[in-house]
Amino acid sequence: MKFNELGLTGPILRAIDYEGYDTPTPIQVAVIPKFLNNHDIVGIAQTGTGKTAAFVLPILERLVKKDKKNESKCFPVLILVPTRELAMQIADKIRVYGKITRPKAVLVVGGVKPGPQIKALKDGADIVVATPGRLLDHVTSKVARLDVTKTVILDEADQMLDLGFMPSIKIIISKISKDKQAVLLSATMPKAVRSLAD
Ligand code: AMP
Repeated sequence: MKFNELGLTGPILRAIDYEGYDTPTPIQVAVIPKFLNNHDIVGIAQTGTGKTAAFVLPILERLVKKDKKNESKCFPVLILVPTRELAMQIADKIRVYGKITRPKAVLVVGGVKPGPQIKALKDGADIVVATPGRLLDHVTSKVARLDVTKTVILDEADQMLDLGFMPSIKIIISKISKDKQAVLLSATMPKAVRSLAD
């Protein structure tokens, strides 16, 4: 299987080529076509399997065809993660794979001053990579809006539950449109993660 058989096109394929990836990993083969067909996805995925590219590449593919401007404080794609470090790694990959498409990605994480995040969100973004607590703070204080968010990815969902983010995640999800696309990836699939997926 080749990347161009998964539904990815020009600028994304060039970025992958630039990275020197020859063949998609099994999780990329499983996730990318389904993601592009707007399916909800639940997957068991360990770090090191290529899981980040499995959801970042189709997000970027969609942005190639984007025809609307971002709305203030809004973002069509939300990636929720347990830690600032993981958020930064994902933002880094968005930069790498998006070197041709150049999406606007904003990091919304705890442990840093909120001011720059608020400023970055003012004109909206293509993608927000967030930890749940800080995102909920921004939503509550109305500097971030979830009403145009159409795709939500929960990465390392089991970690998020372990860190006690379940209540914040539930509130965030309840504010996102019911017809959203949801993607949940987790290294393990305990009952609590399964029920969150459901
Ligand atoms: P991840 O599981 O997302 O943490 O990715 C693990 C590593 O695999 C990262 O350093 C990626 O750059 C790399 N990677 C992702 N997809 C591929 C691929 N198809 N071929 C080779 N390396 C890849």
